[in-house]
Amino acid sequence: MTNSMNGIVKEKPAAGASFRTDLPIPEVKKNDVLIEVKATAICGTDLHIMSWGDYAASRVPIPMVFGHEFAGNIVKVGEDVREYRVGDRVAGETHIPCNECIQCKTNNRHICENLKIIGVHVPGSFCNYISIPKDCVYKISDNITYKMGAMLEPMGVAVHGVSVAQVKGKDVLIYGCGPIGLMAVGAAKTWGAKKVLAADIVDRKLEAAKQMRADAAINSMSEDIRAIVLKETDGAGPDIVIDYTGSGGAVSSGLSLLKKGGTFVMVGLPNKPMTMDFSENVIYKEAAIIGVTGRRMYETWRECEEILSSGTFSLDPVVGGVYPLADFEKAFESLHNGCPGKMILIP
Ligand SMILES: [Zn+2]
Ligand SMILES: [Zn+2]
Repeated sequence: MTNSMNGIVKEKPAAGASFRTDLPIPEVKKNDVLIEVKATAICGTDLHIMSWGDYAASRVPIPMVFGHEFAGNIVKVGEDVREYRVGDRVAGETHIPCNECIQCKTNNRHICENLKIIGVHVPGSFCNYISIPKDCVYKISDNITYKMGAMLEPMGVAVHGVSVAQVKGKDVLIYGCGPIGLMAVGAAKTWGAKKVLAADIVDRKLEAAKQMRADAAINSMSEDIRAIVLKETDGAGPDIVIDYTGSGGAVSSGLSLLKKGGTFVMVGLPNKPMTMDFSENVIYKEAAIIGVTGRRMYETWRECEEILSSGTFSLDPVVGGVYPLADFEKAFESLHNGCPGKMILIP
């Protein structure tokens, strides 16, 4: 190991970030492990950090390496770490729990009262080496490549949203065919949903949804989503709607299409308060609304592995592009241009 490393640093509030070759390799505290990053993926959160809106300004201590979806090899373990060894192939869990609060003590560490996020509150993975608490390490099996490993964290968000809804035998409507929505389509199919309908406003993303085995892919901008969804569900509406967009239009359309007694899962983050017709679409309907954030530690990770080993689920259609870390600007640019799928950086 050399003494310095490469990394992408958010240095100042102005839009953009810098590729640096002179960063110190992080120190390893006694409960931490040092991971050589082999693949790291770009998340919507990273776009917010690049462009530096309110979300980033109120959380990210700059200058800092960002990025939080990654996989690699353990190259050093802290003196109190017994669970992992040098050479283990691992992926990173982004949630850093405090292990002290009531949520942590009742198996809800992903909604810890004092939750910190890798790559947001503390240095991230767009670099050669990252040091993380042992709580954030998940060992991956040999048949999971590093690129797949880097996609497990967002796949967990997808799978968590599908898991809470119990989709087997049900008609499911999914809003948003970004990487997470695409993985949710595949997860719902793998778990035996009767029909999976996918909606987005970008045709290229809808093509990817079909590759993930969506039974119908609907452009909610240019097509009559209401007519198509009602036709596909024999006039009753879907039993389950999962929103990965956070868009007010999608949430209100989804709630109004939802079958009576159905379940609505909210995963996408709205960027402002929303107005809804709760009387018609929730109360008279007896709809259940469930909010979902991140991944359960570590039930969701196991569910992801179960889906990946099912033989019916492939992450290939979810990969949008693979770039060397130094070319990160190209990867961000293709995201801005509406390129579907996950962009993966190789340090
Ligand atoms: Zn992410
Ligand atoms: Zn806690």
